[in-house]
Amino acid sequence: MNQRAMEHALGKLVMDSGLQGAGRMNGNSQGIALITGASSGIGAVYADRLAHRGHDLMLVARDRQRLDALATRVRDETGRSVEVVAADLSDKADLARVEEVLRTNAGITVLVNNAGIAMSGDLASADPDRLESMIRLNVLAPSRLALAVIPGFIAGGRGTLINISSVLALAPERFNGAYSGTKAYLLNLSLRLQQEVGNKGVRVQVVLPGATRTAIWEKAGTDIESLPPGIVMAVDDMVDAALAGLDRGETVTIPALPDMAQWEAYEAARQKMIPSLSLSAPAARYGVAVAGGAR
Ligand code: NAP
Repeated sequence: MNQRAMEHALGKLVMDSGLQGAGRMNGNSQGIALITGASSGIGAVYADRLAHRGHDLMLVARDRQRLDALATRVRDETGRSVEVVAADLSDKADLARVEEVLRTNAGITVLVNNAGIAMSGDLASADPDRLESMIRLNVLAPSRLALAVIPGFIAGGRGTLINISSVLALAPERFNGAYSGTKAYLLNLSLRLQQEVGNKGVRVQVVLPGATRTAIWEKAGTDIESLPPGIVMAVDDMVDAALAGLDRGETVTIPALPDMAQWEAYEAARQKMIPSLSLSAPAARYGVAVAGGAR
């Protein structure tokens, strides 16, 4: 067993036996949940709910003041241990600091990859620097953080990765294509990762929220009040549904979708198409004379 595997096995043993030390984790902890983008919106509600479920917390975002205020409230309400890590996850050095925490703290049992920004408007007229920051934050950061935590989860035989995607992963026509692309990336990554690690005691859940009432809309230059009220969910309801989906063992959770059979039919159609997507010859409709012989 290598050193990391040993650390994680020890961490699991310590947690399973309830022997964890004061200051690092309180008694009866479900382990530490590290939540990115915890200073507001969806991440702040995850912090609240996971602490009430018995997790100690590590809260990551740039705004230390807001994180500290949330940490104080959650500590007071739940008695859980809450640590604040101020970091800009679109910055390489800051991201590396958080990766290191995930690689080395064997007490971490949950990673919520939630931090994200959006950009609205047409892609053709978008600010390329904003585009780059968004891709760093929405794509690169959750990927590197997942890579940092998963080996420890596998070594310990347990852990949960929650990736916050969006229904726009399935509806690219509805919003800025680069933003929806970052969310489709997270869906793909999660589906494959669950296949890879699901039989090793590790859970991967990808959450596809629809429009949710948070500050992200205003930050992206869209007035949420301009949306039809019938398509906007309260943030507490969204997170509660997502956690209920986690409890139900879902890999893909779409909090608003009334009929999950629609997703299952979509998935079944996709799976059915897969064997035909890569073949040695172009499809007959393209009329290509196949080199090397008859079709
Ligand atoms: P939000 O209230 O704006 O929260 C975004 C969080 O990300 C904040 O805590 C923010 O904190 C953090 N963040 C932003 N830039 C960061 C950076 N460079 N480094 C570290 N943290 C950063 O928005 P939200 O709606 O809760 O968004 C959370 C996630 O849900 C995002 O991934 C978003 O794409 C996804 N989502 C939202 C909706 C929706 O309608 N609200 C729908 C589908 C998916 P600081 O500013 O303090 O860094």
